[in-house]
Amino acid sequence: MNAGNTRLPIIAVSRCLLGEPVRYDGRDKEAPELIAAIRPHCTILPVCPEVEAGLTVPRPPIQLIVDSHGNYHLMGRDDPDLDVTQPLHQFASHFCHAAQKLSAAILQNRSPNCGVADTPIYNSAGIQQSTGDGFFSAFLKNSYPELPITTPQQLDSSEEINLFIQRATAYNGS
Ligand code: SF4
Repeated sequence: MNAGNTRLPIIAVSRCLLGEPVRYDGRDKEAPELIAAIRPHCTILPVCPEVEAGLTVPRPPIQLIVDSHGNYHLMGRDDPDLDVTQPLHQFASHFCHAAQKLSAAILQNRSPNCGVADTPIYNSAGIQQSTGDGFFSAFLKNSYPELPITTPQQLDSSEEINLFIQRATAYNGS
């Protein structure tokens, strides 16, 4: 991890929010106002779990599946034979192992990996069961239960952004 300016909190940010065209369809989800607001107050650590796990751009869309034993899998949305759970598990494990200096994370809504509380979760038959954390977000939360983690949707005002930066700064100093 490149810690950059260690006096500032290090915030992991989904690469697609930074304008990088890394989504499955080769597009981005750039959030320029949010990024401009946080940039002076932190060191941004770009992360795209899917690309950094070795998936291509573009790539077949995947979805989060929970099986009858409560285990989570990342499977092809259109191709039930596509299973990318293992490389994503390996990446998330590696990232979390190296993330002790992380102070917060801002991750893209509804993504099967980055979503925070709002990712659709399907059963093995492809029927949506619930919403919850994406695969990577859940891994990060389990590894660092107190780490501030949010989405651009929740940072929809300067007040919310300021509060989040304060939480990241406090976590950084804890
Ligand atoms: S895995 Fe995360 S960072 Fe990568 S494209 Fe999907 S939402 Fe964006």
